[in-house]
Amino acid sequence: MTDRNQALFERAKTLIPGGVNSPVRAFKAVGGTPRFVQRAQGAHFWDANGQKYIDYIGSWGPMILGHGHPAVLEAVQKAALDGFSFGAPTEREVELAEAIVELVPSIDMVRLVSSGTEAGMSAIRLARGATGRKKIIKFEGCYHGHADALLVKAGSGLATFGNPTSAGVPPEVVQHTIVLEYNNIEQLEAAFKEHGAEVACLMIEPIAGNMNFVRASVPFMTRCRELCTQHGALLAFDEVMTGFRVALGGAQSVYAKLIPGFEPDMTVMGKVIGGGMPLAAFGAKRAVMEQLAPLGAVYQAGTLSGNPVATACGLATLKEIRKPGFFEALSATTQSLVSGLTGAAAAEGVTLCGDSEGGMFGIFLFAELPQNYAKVMTTDGPTFNKLFHGLLDRGVYIAPALYEAGFVSAAHTAQDIADTVAAAREVFKTL
Ligand SMILES: *Cc1c(COP(=O)(O)O)cnc(C)c1O
Repeated sequence: MTDRNQALFERAKTLIPGGVNSPVRAFKAVGGTPRFVQRAQGAHFWDANGQKYIDYIGSWGPMILGHGHPAVLEAVQKAALDGFSFGAPTEREVELAEAIVELVPSIDMVRLVSSGTEAGMSAIRLARGATGRKKIIKFEGCYHGHADALLVKAGSGLATFGNPTSAGVPPEVVQHTIVLEYNNIEQLEAAFKEHGAEVACLMIEPIAGNMNFVRASVPFMTRCRELCTQHGALLAFDEVMTGFRVALGGAQSVYAKLIPGFEPDMTVMGKVIGGGMPLAAFGAKRAVMEQLAPLGAVYQAGTLSGNPVATACGLATLKEIRKPGFFEALSATTQSLVSGLTGAAAAEGVTLCGDSEGGMFGIFLFAELPQNYAKVMTTDGPTFNKLFHGLLDRGVYIAPALYEAGFVSAAHTAQDIADTVAAAREVFKTL
């Protein structure tokens, strides 16, 4: 049999840089040939060779119901018949905004956009416009999309600002971005002490999914909140990944249970709210959101923003995940996966630990859960790659990079989990 994945990859590489439209898809970190997906249903997809996989990426989070959920499909098909895009407001945008405001109590008003990058970039502009300040704080290992000011890694010291992580980003563009270590209270306090009056916002992934799966500790999150309040900076939660994924109310609802009265000031959303269609959003209290054009002086716009087909998909998805018991069942499935994997590893003498919240999880080739990016990046790469390819060969598709989280959908069955754990146990024997 000819390998159609390989043939497609070769064709793609002549036309598309690296053969892919988003870098991690290229399997560069793990080696081998990316799987070109032909179709998907439920918790599975089939590649160009017709090979079936259990999908633990779910489009990097959006597919919380699994692929091809009948109610979502129907909503999208109906919406498409009524028109793809108008460049004028529609009722579904209002409905989706109402749903978001209802599910996320820290949000009074919301604006819809088309990608998480756009939402994060716009939220930063709004934070700067609303506070009249320049500086932003972010944390190493957190990804907030590829806006210039956010493609930054830590500099050599606190007083110095970050360095661009991408060519094409002049140092001047990131000079107002302060990059700190995740879960490091001391650095956080020092940064606010030195720059507090100039900080427009602190942006954070509350449960970071772009350095595998790392939670902000409760004391750290408490200090983030206190210092932002004390210095008049906005606490911006990037919940593009965690929103409607770790819990119905997002990661902020998880922290609100642990820290009395806890709320962020701004929230950036994406992924699940589009249900697999290009849709994202950012929201905050009314006084902040009213600074946006056309009401206020902060400009922001989008030809396809609030797209009628995407909003139909998002609304249908939210309707399903709001059903009673949805997150309890999803959490239980995800927990059974993580405990199955750690149990199988222990049985084979492989060091492995894991964590999950709702339908998002991480596993690490460590004895203990890491607390920051530097620790995550000490993962034994060759062993991870063996694990990845071993699973892939056995029809289990996890993220092709050790710094990415995993995702379980409501379509994953106990059989899928058992098959995954059995495959993993076979791979663990070879590590
Ligand atoms: C995926 C992601 C983004 C970027 O969203 P895109 O839709 O890919 O632009 C931003 N922040 C976080 C936390 C993400 O996981």
